[in-house]
Amino acid sequence: MGRIVENAHAKINLTLDVGPVRPDGYHEIHTVMQSLELRDVVVLEERPAGISLDCLPGDPLRQGARCFVESESHLLPPSDERNLAWKAAKLLMEAVGIGRGVHILIHKAIPLAAGLAGGSADAAAVLRGLNRLWNLGMSREELALVGVKVGADVPFCLLEGTAEAKGIGEKLTPVPSPPPWSVLLLKLPVSVSTAACYKAYDELPSPIRVDAVEMLEALADEDLNQVAKCLGNSLEAVTMQQVPELVSWRKVMEGAGSLGVLMSGSGPALFGLVRDECQGDEVFERLATAVKQERQGLLPNLYLTRFLSSKGNDDFKGGAWHA
Ligand code: ATP
Repeated sequence: MGRIVENAHAKINLTLDVGPVRPDGYHEIHTVMQSLELRDVVVLEERPAGISLDCLPGDPLRQGARCFVESESHLLPPSDERNLAWKAAKLLMEAVGIGRGVHILIHKAIPLAAGLAGGSADAAAVLRGLNRLWNLGMSREELALVGVKVGADVPFCLLEGTAEAKGIGEKLTPVPSPPPWSVLLLKLPVSVSTAACYKAYDELPSPIRVDAVEMLEALADEDLNQVAKCLGNSLEAVTMQQVPELVSWRKVMEGAGSLGVLMSGSGPALFGLVRDECQGDEVFERLATAVKQERQGLLPNLYLTRFLSSKGNDDFKGGAWHA
């Protein structure tokens, strides 16, 4: 029986512009996405038939991040057909008509429902892994056609690295990854409903538009200060209205020395950029001290990770790539 291990990397949105609602109910978005070293590890073991799945708490230190955990450290996703990794396996098996089975084991290190695409990353890892395990010979573009049915972030998670995404997130143009800058993540123990977030955004008197062009230039120039200046997320204001604690934690992150702070996706995870690991360690210590001093209210978990610099997307560099 074969066995495959795949890394499932978290992502952040360096910019996220949300446009109008489409007739199919999805929003048109324009975003610049970046993979992080923080990852889940997904182990696939061949079985004669069917799908089974287990989730175990991962070890962030061995999975790309230093971490300071205050709460919900053992929160795990469902281990049944509701899991996005299970859905991906089922859709792939249906698409290729294969009569074999798989056991999926997820070592979960990416915080759940944070805007870091943990579920999408696991789904993408399953698609990549089953393609190898069963020698399906599918291209990443073919896998993405299956993946987009699981979630709009899955095509990017198949690609990894750095990319501009349009449509609902499935129209991808990979760009060269910048250096492995350090990133602090702050995750409060609250979840925000993505649907509620988009609904609140639609009810704003005018949309908050964010430009990706300057961000792409700053990345091409490998200019971290400029990248920090160009950060922007259409959804940040509405999520911050729902979770006002984010406003003060954002100030704490800035005060601790992050070059720029932004919410990822529909939140509530905040990320802060730092040049290197040494500076990252200092900012992490200051933040951890601030969390320890805060005795009441919602206390966040902290992670120190880096931009993923070794990309799994070499075969797709240089061209637009659509699911
Ligand atoms: P995105 O950034 O793509 O919006 P997210 O980081 O906000 O994703 P996820 O961590 O992917 O959110 O989880 C969102 C929901 O999906 C959770 O409620 C969780 O229970 C469910 N879920 C299903 N499968 C998984 C999985 N493998 N990992 C994490 N969450 C999963």
